[in-house]
Amino acid sequence: MQVKVAGFNIDSTLIGEIRGKSESFTPEVISASYARISRDPRDIGQIRKEAREAVKKARISNEKIIFGLGHSSVAEHAVFNFDIMGISRLAVEELESFRLASFTEKSQRYIKIGKDIILPKEIEDCGLESQFNDLMKFLSDEYNNLYLKMLDNKEDESVAKEDSRYLLPLAVTAQLGMTVNARELEYMISRLASHKLEELNELAEKLSKIARGIAPSLVRYPEAADYFSNKFETRNKLGGMTNKIVSDDKSEEVKLLSDTEDCDNLLVAALLFSSGKIGIKDARTAALRMSVKEKIDIVRNTMEDMQLYDSVWREFEHVHLLFEVIVSASCFAQLKRHRMTTITVQPYSQQLGVKIPESVKRCGAVKEFEKAAEMSSRLYKEIRKEKNFAADYVMLNASRRRVLFDINLRELYHFSRLRSDKHAQWEIRTLSEKMCKMVKRKLPVGAILLGGKDSFSEMKNSLQ
Ligand SMILES: Cc1cc2nc3c(=O)[nH]c(=O)nc-3n(C[C@H](O)[C@H](O)[C@H](O)COP(=O)(O)OP(=O)(O)OC[C@H]3O[C@@H](n4cnc5c(N)ncnc54)[C@H](O)[C@@H]3O)c2cc1C
Repeated sequence: MQVKVAGFNIDSTLIGEIRGKSESFTPEVISASYARISRDPRDIGQIRKEAREAVKKARISNEKIIFGLGHSSVAEHAVFNFDIMGISRLAVEELESFRLASFTEKSQRYIKIGKDIILPKEIEDCGLESQFNDLMKFLSDEYNNLYLKMLDNKEDESVAKEDSRYLLPLAVTAQLGMTVNARELEYMISRLASHKLEELNELAEKLSKIARGIAPSLVRYPEAADYFSNKFETRNKLGGMTNKIVSDDKSEEVKLLSDTEDCDNLLVAALLFSSGKIGIKDARTAALRMSVKEKIDIVRNTMEDMQLYDSVWREFEHVHLLFEVIVSASCFAQLKRHRMTTITVQPYSQQLGVKIPESVKRCGAVKEFEKAAEMSSRLYKEIRKEKNFAADYVMLNASRRRVLFDINLRELYHFSRLRSDKHAQWEIRTLSEKMCKMVKRKLPVGAILLGGKDSFSEMKNSLQ
């Protein structure tokens, strides 16, 4: 066996120092040579050498294989890193909805935010610029006041930072590092270019310009598409169909919607299936006949050597859990980072009110908090009158929305280790704990070790 490194991502400044000297400084070379592996019997090193020496030919080959034949996964071998700065938190929500990319973002939890706010083009265009600026200044002042008030109230500095940010609007800017392959990038650009927010159209343009400058044969069709842009109108129409339904359904923050009754049997059957020679139907019948203790023994066997950083077996992915949750924008910012889930959202809703942290109550700042929420709500309505989607920029981190959250049991194990842990932020920790409690009640077998990193050893010992 031989293993050679064919490439790796290095800082663009270093690339810049040598790039002008050769045409072959493009990730297209790797994609083109890998594309040929399936039909060219030569050693990969030789195939790569040829692609390096004839970049034009490599580009033609990429276009033919990726776009002509539809062998699109070849474009995944080319990877880009982007620094993205001065992007609003609202726009980040859309950007980070791309699940086949990696992100690391400046945290409002750990960093005190200054006057880092964007003025969206849509707000300028609808003549509400001065009201917007006034509100942003007011919220920034209230955020600072709340932070100081919490410190005066002897709250820990980390709590003061973490909780005063609930008053920040979604127009606050972020910065992040993004790693994405060429296939996902092309899809990303097309969707962002079709988005209703101009800020995202601008981001699409910038990403496209850079990517096409480096790898034109891999990012070929990054244009806006009617299929994506018409989605906004379609949603409006579908939303209209729900207008007549009277609903006061906002009491429960977490609901488990899946029919979980047979999930434990399915999990045990999947474990028997992959370990034996019987079909899933027979494995299910066998699971149905077992006592809970027998089933727990089977699951426990798979977990005997597991450490807290190990994933449970892939068979756990066959169990799907569908939740409806109501979360603040702060909580959603964390929830959406779990890429092995399926998430669909409603817009932030004034009817759902705002999430007020306990620390705000402890320091007696609820009135000020509610006033800030009311001010944001008023301008939101003004902007919406213009049918302006950009109204969401004035929503707060405390604003709430409904989310459909579909997660498999394997990912829930991962999620709960991080999010039920004592280091997790309080709102997502509460959410994770509620989810785990519900699942444990419904899946006494499959959920035996569900919980935070901090309780892993204790839970594992109790199984013995
Ligand atoms: C305490 C805490 C603090 C945090 N602080 C920050 C912060 O300051 N800034 C910030 O940006 N984020 C922060 N995060 C978010 C964190 O970086 C992750 O994005 C988030 O927890 C999602 O988890 P995940 O990436 O492990 O996996 P998920 O997206 O939930 O995926 C599940 C698993 O799939 C695998 N996986 C998924 N995608 C890939 C991939 N592309 N390559 C390889 N394996 C993959 C991994 O095994 C992963 O564990 C924080 C999270 C926690 C818990």
